[in-house]
Amino acid sequence: MDGAFDDEAEPVVTIREYLEEVEERELEADLVLGGDDGKECTYSKGYMKRQAIFSCLTCTPDGNAGVCTACSLSCHDGHQIVELWTKRNFRCDCGNSKFGEFYCKIFPNKDVENVENSYNHNFKGSYCTCGRPYPDPDAEEQVEMIQCCLCEDWFHEEHLGLESSAEIPKDDEGEPMYEEFICKACSEVCFFLKLYPEEIWAAGKQPDATVQI
Ligand SMILES: [Zn+2]
Ligand SMILES: [Zn+2]
Ligand SMILES: [Zn+2]
Ligand SMILES: [Zn+2]
Ligand SMILES: [Zn+2]
Repeated sequence: MDGAFDDEAEPVVTIREYLEEVEERELEADLVLGGDDGKECTYSKGYMKRQAIFSCLTCTPDGNAGVCTACSLSCHDGHQIVELWTKRNFRCDCGNSKFGEFYCKIFPNKDVENVENSYNHNFKGSYCTCGRPYPDPDAEEQVEMIQCCLCEDWFHEEHLGLESSAEIPKDDEGEPMYEEFICKACSEVCFFLKLYPEEIWAAGKQPDATVQI
């Protein structure tokens, strides 16, 4: 057995295996900690795989910054906060250069900017292709919105670009049944790039329809 441990015999780990392992570990951490306990700024964890993000329209009305749960509670208490639900690959911006003179109370020593963060119009408090706020003060009743799993924007069912809402699979109670939804804009891009494996399209007759995995 001794010979098996020299340099040449080191086990080869493919990128794929590595990523799967990282993902598994993160998933375990998520299950143990419930993701984010909301007490510490998540900045030191870097670009987190997924976390709840908030935008503060009091501090950054241009919607070009996002903060973690703890910062939304501790640093932006009483501010006009927009809840963005979860975002992928995002690092807390609280108190960085985008906030001017404002400092983060929990983790003030941040880089001037998080260059890998991306910001869509949700950060300004508008959603969907129609750009309405949520909740919508002009709407008679608040309808649930559907999140695109790629761009993470939220959409009204009637603005999905489907011919009729009958195209969304529903259960007996009329609740929409789908696990992953890809919006029209993303599906057009991805259809050409083929970023996703074949099977994700299998259930939809068109790439811009909802898909079930
Ligand atoms: Zn934070
Ligand atoms: Zn604020
Ligand atoms: Zn903060
Ligand atoms: Zn809409
Ligand atoms: Zn999308």
